[in-house]
Amino acid sequence: MTPRFLRAALLLVALSGVAGTARAQGKPLGEVLVLTTGGTIASRTIGPMTDGPSLVRGIPELAKVATIRVEEVMRVPSSQVTPADWLRLGKRVNSAFATAPALRGIVVTHGTDTMEETAFFLNLTVRDPRPVVVTGAMRGADEVSADGPANVLNGVRVAMTVEAKGHGVLVVLNEDIAAARDVWKSDNRRADTFGSPQRGYLGAADPDTVIFFRRALQSHTVASEFDIARIDSLARVEIVTDYAGFDSTVMHAAVQRRPRGIVLTSFAGGRLSAGGRAAVRIAAAANIPVVVASRVPGGRIVGSPLGDMPVVLARDLPAHKARVLLMLALTRTAERGALQQIFDRY
Ligand code: ASP
Repeated sequence: MTPRFLRAALLLVALSGVAGTARAQGKPLGEVLVLTTGGTIASRTIGPMTDGPSLVRGIPELAKVATIRVEEVMRVPSSQVTPADWLRLGKRVNSAFATAPALRGIVVTHGTDTMEETAFFLNLTVRDPRPVVVTGAMRGADEVSADGPANVLNGVRVAMTVEAKGHGVLVVLNEDIAAARDVWKSDNRRADTFGSPQRGYLGAADPDTVIFFRRALQSHTVASEFDIARIDSLARVEIVTDYAGFDSTVMHAAVQRRPRGIVLTSFAGGRLSAGGRAAVRIAAAANIPVVVASRVPGGRIVGSPLGDMPVVLARDLPAHKARVLLMLALTRTAERGALQQIFDRY
């Protein structure tokens, strides 16, 4: 069986042991679906990744919190996750909600390398207000102080919390609850890597309670205009990076690949080198929309340094998230003004 085929195989396992414990206490707990996709949370120093049901079976504490159903969607390091995988996962989340009115929420376990992209994609395409929590781990399953089990447990606790509804997709690690749109992976190694430096966390999964502090105002989930039900593939969008001494050669190469859109990573405030400005003109001549995303994490791009250059401003989205939004935006429009409105709304 090829790894790709393996990934495509859906494995549905009701964890009768876990669910049984809840029932034995006389009070059936609400149901949470755990969708597993691989990542460090499923990895060991030696040997293959743990399958989804085994991952969940290794956290018996879940039985006190919810009735768990687990389904393995794929089993890969998230550096290998593709837009086709985002679509497949998003459709599965939507179909799970559509067919299970009693389902309380969904937890997605995922590698942390591209967790920001997947979580933001789901934030824009899930069509249900019930909680979707994305979680993972920075330490492998067999490392001292592995953080995976606590993160999954807290993810399920959040998914079971009534107040978690309507916040959009949540990223829960290290007891913090972040909005998928705002979360940044900020450390290469440490367990507290997922910060929300611009806007702060939405809440916390404290040991005694799950608490929300605030609500994100940007559109998401049920207020999103993006419908992936009838979409089989997403538009190709390239990322080109400006830098000191950039000469725009890479933009020529990118344009030759005929992408539907390009994200151009700029300096602070959306400022571009002479090569970066030439790159915008190259893309414009090929009729390819360019979204400018700052390489600096704090603040927003407000336009003035770019004058009347034909670009869309990513505001405070980093390039990798701007690419996700542009791929979805291109399902609706390729017109610059309309694209800017989309970037201002999400
Ligand atoms: N290799 C991992 C991944 O799948 C890293 C992690 O999960 O922390 O992204």
